[in-house]
Amino acid sequence: GAVVDRLTSLVAAAPDAARATTTAPYTGLALAEFPVSTPADVAEAFARARRAQLRWAQVPVEERERILLRFHDLVLDRRNEALDLMQAESGKTRRDAFLEVTDIAITARYYARTAARLLAPRRRRGAIPVLTHTTELRHPKGVVTVISPWNYPLSMAAGDAIPALMAGNAVVQKPDTQTALTALWALDLMREAGLPADVWQMVVGRGSSIGDALIAGGDYLMFTGSTASGRRIARDAGERLIGASLELGGKNAMVVLADADIARAADGAVAACFPSAGQLCVSIERLYVAEEIRDEFVAAFVERTGKLRLGAAYDFSVDVGSLTNTAQLATVTAHIADAVAKGATVLAGGKARPDLGPLFHEPTILTDVTPEMTLFAQETFGPVVSIYPYRDVEEAIALANDTTYGLNASVWSRDGAKGRAVAARLHAGTVNVNEAFAAAWGSVDAPMGGMGDSGLGRRHGADGLLKYTEAQTVAQQRLRGFS
Ligand code: NAP
Repeated sequence: GAVVDRLTSLVAAAPDAARATTTAPYTGLALAEFPVSTPADVAEAFARARRAQLRWAQVPVEERERILLRFHDLVLDRRNEALDLMQAESGKTRRDAFLEVTDIAITARYYARTAARLLAPRRRRGAIPVLTHTTELRHPKGVVTVISPWNYPLSMAAGDAIPALMAGNAVVQKPDTQTALTALWALDLMREAGLPADVWQMVVGRGSSIGDALIAGGDYLMFTGSTASGRRIARDAGERLIGASLELGGKNAMVVLADADIARAADGAVAACFPSAGQLCVSIERLYVAEEIRDEFVAAFVERTGKLRLGAAYDFSVDVGSLTNTAQLATVTAHIADAVAKGATVLAGGKARPDLGPLFHEPTILTDVTPEMTLFAQETFGPVVSIYPYRDVEEAIALANDTTYGLNASVWSRDGAKGRAVAARLHAGTVNVNEAFAAAWGSVDAPMGGMGDSGLGRRHGADGLLKYTEAQTVAQQRLRGFS
């Protein structure tokens, strides 16, 4: 109660604001009540952010780094609070929530250690003889709009704000209402770590009501969500000629080569398909297996999937948690029903589990999936994977690339060089060899993002920071007798 009151009081909204209520996925019971921001509240937040940003940009990067390191320590000290909030709001397991805590700690430490170097002026030799040198400066964009989804409420919310703040920007953010407590928890800790209040603000409300104000107020847009929403928002950002980075959907493929270690590949498939009940943008929904090992691999994968413990627990005793909202459960059940009606075979799972809670669904493995079925090409964003056999590597690559998306992929082989050669030919921003999703998750110093319909721009690494800056080139002419 007290924690909820403190966190909801951080929302940038008028005192007499209308209220929105969220429910806990585990139980369906009311969880929190939020003030809802209006377009006027959003405009006011941008005005305050704009004033605060001018001062924040003058704070030396080294001081910004100290604040971020304090935030890092606070996150680790208070991790249990975050784990409870994330589980209550999203229905994910403790382990999945724990991954978010580690991710955000790693991201904070990485940018605290690298921001000063990445933002430092870069001197180059003059390109033509009359120039003594050119210098590349990196200025903050100004105020960055961050719109973040509900599936990874801490990683996505804080993970995108951190580099924007480190580059000297202010941030106005709209976390998804369902998981706004977790986002506000991160905001609270960052302020406790020393970030001036107006530099990072959060508004709560539906995109249909405050979306226009969020695009109108910012100098750069960071959006994470579905491809359909991303396309619409990018159009509005394009109209204003502001840059945008979009992290969108996927239909990620895993390719198990004939020489793969089958037991490890089956473990990998479980890890890749069912994190946060499949509500992870980089989780695997298409699995291509070499014909000669198909039966052995399927048996191993089905056996492991059958052993997964489903349920609601605020400890580490379960493997798969709940879906987060009724729309997700409806999509999952509709995709499976459509596939089964058109001839797909259920090898594992297949059913909702109302006995465990209103939004639980079994991890599900399908085969005999054909292009007429909705889930053949569309993202389910749930614990559902389809297995397809293939004859040779060329066919596997062609099938894996037969998608408009290009977010993440995974390749399994005992031969690392062969695995890497296949990886390089897959149309995906991150590819993992003998790994589920470490290239997207954990490799914080390397770019992560999507090709094709999976998005634009990259998070993590230098790209993840420098996209929040404007480059300015200063060229200086050599004048005799002057420096
Ligand atoms: P969504 O419907 O696009 O919503 C995502 C967020 O954007 C929500 O908080 C939503 O708020 C907001 N939003 C939508 N339209 C808006 C607008 N016009 N103006 C301002 N805000 C707007 O996506 P979702 O179904 O909730 O999330 C799941 C999707 O996100 C999946 O497709 C998944 O693959 C993708 N995702 C991608 C990544 C990645 O890194 N590539 C990471 C996580 C998730 P309202 O609902 O309140 O409007």
